[in-house]
Amino acid sequence: MLTWNRGNDMGKEGLLVVVSAPSGTGKGTLLKQLKQSNENLRFSVSATTRKPRKNEIHGKDYFFKTVDEFKKMVEQNELVEWVEYCDNYYGTPGKHIESLINEGYNVLLEVEIEGAISVRKKFPGSVLIFVLPPSIGELRKRITGRGTEEEDIIDKRLEKARSEIEHVDRYDYVVINGEIDKAVKDINSIIRAEELKYTRNLDIINRIGGCF
Ligand code: ADP
Ligand code: 5GP
Repeated sequence: MLTWNRGNDMGKEGLLVVVSAPSGTGKGTLLKQLKQSNENLRFSVSATTRKPRKNEIHGKDYFFKTVDEFKKMVEQNELVEWVEYCDNYYGTPGKHIESLINEGYNVLLEVEIEGAISVRKKFPGSVLIFVLPPSIGELRKRITGRGTEEEDIIDKRLEKARSEIEHVDRYDYVVINGEIDKAVKDINSIIRAEELKYTRNLDIINRIGGCF
């Protein structure tokens, strides 16, 4: 459906872009840079019961919730999807997503695999991108280097990473986060290519075709 929009230059709905990556791959770092390089992109902020890490800001990185508060959000149908992941709850609030897309903005969700699959079911046109670390050795180095998790949690997250990588075939695209600038460029290229897809531009094609 074509709606008035402020977000893009082609008069159409924005994309729903879903990014997943094993914890520690660098997606937080990557998405921060992506945000700076792409002004038509809006980020969905998830709710979680995980404790905030150093430098994480409530309302910007996550909405940090108690278990009771989170369960209330679930009961009141405020979440598009939610999961339990490494002993914490995470979920995507639905409130702003559809209005932003209707305004022409591309909206990015950062969720783990189950969440990505649920989003795809609800929004079949969504674009799924899986970000991989260059190797498992580099992944361990990055999680350890970040210094935010205890050793036993690091092992748990690495084990989880191995099982997550097996599901990469559920995604449309794969980006390797080796050199960060290149990974940012790759994601921007995917978004632009998706915007230019024939099937997403039928309206403009018909409008131009109608002028002959
Ligand atoms: P995630 O959000 O995937 O859990 P972070 O963004 O917190 O991961 O990154 C984990 C660690 O890896 C951080 O210390 C970060 O500085 C580092 N990092 C991120 N991207 C890269 C990269 N391309 N090359 C090297 N180190 C990186
Ligand atoms: P972290 O604790 O490292 O910030 O996130 C752990 C995992 O939860 C990551 O894979 C991240 O993508 C995922 N995640 C964050 N928010 C959501 C969400 O709203 N829904 C789902 N399904 N996963 C999420």
